[in-house]
Amino acid sequence: KLDFHPSGRHFLQIPGPSPVPDRILRAMSLPTIDHRGPEFGALGRELLTKVQKVFKTEHPVIIYPASGTGAWEAALANTLSPGDCVLMFETGHFATLWQKMARRLGLEPEFIGLPGYEGWRHGVQAEMIEARLKEDGDHAIKAVCVVHNETSTGVTSDIASVRRAIDAAGHPALLIVDTISGLASADYRHDEWGVDVTVSGSQKGLMLPPGISFNALSPKAIKVSREAKLPKSFWAWDEILEANQNGYWPYTPSTNLLYGLNEALDMLLEEGLEHVFARHQRWAAGVRCAVDAWGLEIQCQTPELYSPVLTGVVLPEGVDADVVRKIIYERFDLSLGMGLGKAKGKMFRIGHLGDCNDLTLIATLGGCEAGMKLAGVPLAGSGVTAALEYFAEHPLDGTRDP
Ligand code: PLP
Repeated sequence: KLDFHPSGRHFLQIPGPSPVPDRILRAMSLPTIDHRGPEFGALGRELLTKVQKVFKTEHPVIIYPASGTGAWEAALANTLSPGDCVLMFETGHFATLWQKMARRLGLEPEFIGLPGYEGWRHGVQAEMIEARLKEDGDHAIKAVCVVHNETSTGVTSDIASVRRAIDAAGHPALLIVDTISGLASADYRHDEWGVDVTVSGSQKGLMLPPGISFNALSPKAIKVSREAKLPKSFWAWDEILEANQNGYWPYTPSTNLLYGLNEALDMLLEEGLEHVFARHQRWAAGVRCAVDAWGLEIQCQTPELYSPVLTGVVLPEGVDADVVRKIIYERFDLSLGMGLGKAKGKMFRIGHLGDCNDLTLIATLGGCEAGMKLAGVPLAGSGVTAALEYFAEHPLDGTRDP
């Protein structure tokens, strides 16, 4: 419960769902149309082509009326058979949940990673994947599954290095990547990185509400899916691909979310993806300056892998991060991400993605700083001032910064 009557907008600074821009809200407010009619077919064809640009692929992208978890299941169910071994890498809470799902689906996940909590502070270690695949002479491992942007920690792994590892081992395993929280905020290249299935969702960089998710495919993944034996019906790619040829779906799609997606794609492509990525990198750097100035640690311990999407802020030993977050929520109407799984209570996560600007982030950092002071967390200095200085000294080309 807030301890005041809220006015103004809530600050939704969790790492997704992210704030939905007014332009997208307006697009979604139009009347729902006949999803079998010609107007819908034209919309479907248009957005299925445009969405490929965001994944940087020339191959089909499947859109599901489901959250990201559905698209996780779809990626596994379409490509694998009962009892198949899959190699998964522990980068954090979401990698752990995906591994649990693989087991529940009747697969045999092998979950490798750095020891203890280390895996939650670093990215995917491609050389560990390469070494494991080299041992797998009879090719029992059918897929390598990794999370690109681990939303629970703020570490963005190097997917091209995983592709190189699979190739160096001469192994035929599919590469399946979750970029649910990376797409349209962090650089992502489905075709160039040789990814077979990319899983993503609507409620992060795409700036949409939750409710649609994606599988971007490779020709190899489509071929493998014809022989894969895990049961699937709703998630089956074949019928969707067939209906998509004319811009339709085999069942009722989320019509109004698709209006929103079409608008979001226009916004991203008008701005240019490279500009979108640079904007996120700059915000992330400003937020890290604030964390440094507070004298606190960042969850990610590999600077090249700092996430452009979110920053995990580690609180000193003995401070319960959830108590601090609760104070910030109740006093300032500001939502931050909680520590998940092994990170519970140790840190909070600041989302800096999508429809933000320097001032929304300064306000967010202001809420964090004031809330931490109220909670009695000792701070070395002002993170707000440090971030303001960083933003002033690092204008983004093409913005209205002086
Ligand atoms: N994978 C990652 C990296 C995520 O960040 C999330 C959600 O935050 C998921 C998977 C699960 O997606 P959803 O909650 O949309 O089902």
